Amino acid sequence: MRARIYPLAIGKVIKHTLSNLEREVAGLLIGKYLKKNDILEIWDAVTGAQRATSGFVYLDENTIAAAADWVLRNRPGLYIVGWYHSHPGFSLFLSAIDIETQKRYQMMFPKAVALVVDPVSYAKTRKLRDLKFKVFRLDRRGRVVQVRTTIGIHRRKVLESTIQGMELVELKYLGTPRRIEEVEIDEENLLPPSLSSVIKKFKEKLARS
Ligand SMILES: [Zn+2]
Repeated sequence: MRARIYPLAIGKVIKHTLSNLEREVAGLLIGKYLKKNDILEIWDAVTGAQRATSGFVYLDENTIAAAADWVLRNRPGLYIVGWYHSHPGFSLFLSAIDIETQKRYQMMFPKAVALVVDPVSYAKTRKLRDLKFKVFRLDRRGRVVQVRTTIGIHRRKVLESTIQGMELVELKYLGTPRRIEEVEIDEENLLPPSLSSVIKKFKEKLARS
């Protein structure tokens, strides 16, 4: 089996792993398995409540259940296809705890994968070549094997996964943070000043006639 991850999904994973270079972070991968080509496609990534140290991380069971439910209702044809986590500053492999976690994902979905990311080099350079990640799974004997992974370039799927996935991305305002305050609205203030004065004059005229 090979894996194909679309740009938005890897972007979200990188964004999350960059948010904490001291501790491991984790989340879930959303996608689908294409039986015909034996390819696992990763379309999106989500995260939720988790416990972490510098040496391990795990997602809350309720988080996984809630995510599975959300995907079922909101992303027809897609499902949870694995999980991701970071190894900030150390090599890319599955630890003994990771292997136990991965077993559980493969029990839920036999084609599930584990994506491991080390964001430290990329955090320094922001160069694509410094993006360090590997995808793993367990074979029938329970041994860790690496899954060959490419970043997807299928045009329609890049568009579709990006547009859908962007729904869960917050917009960032650069420059001075400005809060939009609630204001009392009266109809006259909604109109441009020149127009409101015209209407005012018109109303005065009506009143006089
Ligand atoms: Zn790990």
